[in-house]
Amino acid sequence: MAVTVLKTVEEMRRYRADVRSNNGTIGLVPTMGYLHEGHASLVRLARERTPHVAVSIFVNPSQFAPHEDFAAYPRNLERDLEIAGRAGAEVVFVPEVAEMYPDGFSTSVVVRAVSEPFEGVFRPTHFEGVATVVAKLLLIAGADFAVFGRKDFQQCAVVQRMVRDLNIPTSIIVAPTVREADGLAMSSRNVYLSPESRLISTVLHKALQAGRSAIERGERSRAAIEQCMGDVIAGEPQVVPDYTAAANADTLAQPDVFESGQQAVLLLAARLGRTRLIDNDVIEVP
Ligand code: AMP
Repeated sequence: MAVTVLKTVEEMRRYRADVRSNNGTIGLVPTMGYLHEGHASLVRLARERTPHVAVSIFVNPSQFAPHEDFAAYPRNLERDLEIAGRAGAEVVFVPEVAEMYPDGFSTSVVVRAVSEPFEGVFRPTHFEGVATVVAKLLLIAGADFAVFGRKDFQQCAVVQRMVRDLNIPTSIIVAPTVREADGLAMSSRNVYLSPESRLISTVLHKALQAGRSAIERGERSRAAIEQCMGDVIAGEPQVVPDYTAAANADTLAQPDVFESGQQAVLLLAARLGRTRLIDNDVIEVP
């Protein structure tokens, strides 16, 4: 059955009331559209828990800095509806910017600490935009649970912290990263890559694998692990890293030495021409 398109907060609230009145639960998958197999996997995961899956498609201006790619961000609603429907969405929420941020909009959600390192250094206003729009979406949908991709590891940490701190009654589910056959994490922004850049882009995944191997070999020194990843990236001079980091996966703190049994996360961001890519991997320290 074709997916139903909802455009206003009012329509979304009515949908939620209908589902609730039949004792149903709502799962939300927030996206910025231009859907790919990574997004579809989140929808399928949600669909395993409830038939009432809502996908939101909203390119949120407030999470882009003025020099970033808001205007150029890829969009294709027709195709998105097809992919969302096929993956099991019941409704797709596609609000206009003015619906989400009407005149006089003055509130924002700032999650301190976990939003500050890594992406926070290079995109200082990004997570404020993300937290604000995600809070709105969770509340508009009255979502019982929402699914996010581990691809955006720090975003998951920010959303989980926010939901706890603000007592938002939505469970956050984190789904694994879906990759292309050669290891590149799927992303709507991959369409920006020239054929040559697309080939080079696999260096991010290779760097993560090098970091993982180092940890699995028994390397515990954060500097040494980061060096392993950095060396791989340095092998492709066209790839300019913003950060190559190892951190505690729970707190995002950066210990000098990891301890056995700890969950470590390797985090990378790099620019390839005008395209900025991020990736990560989570490893239990042996
Ligand atoms: P975006 O449309 O890029 O804002 O992403 C929407 C949601 O899909 C976020 O929770 C992302 O983490 C998730 N996502 C994006 N790419 C992937 C991927 N390759 N694998 C799994 N989840 C993803």
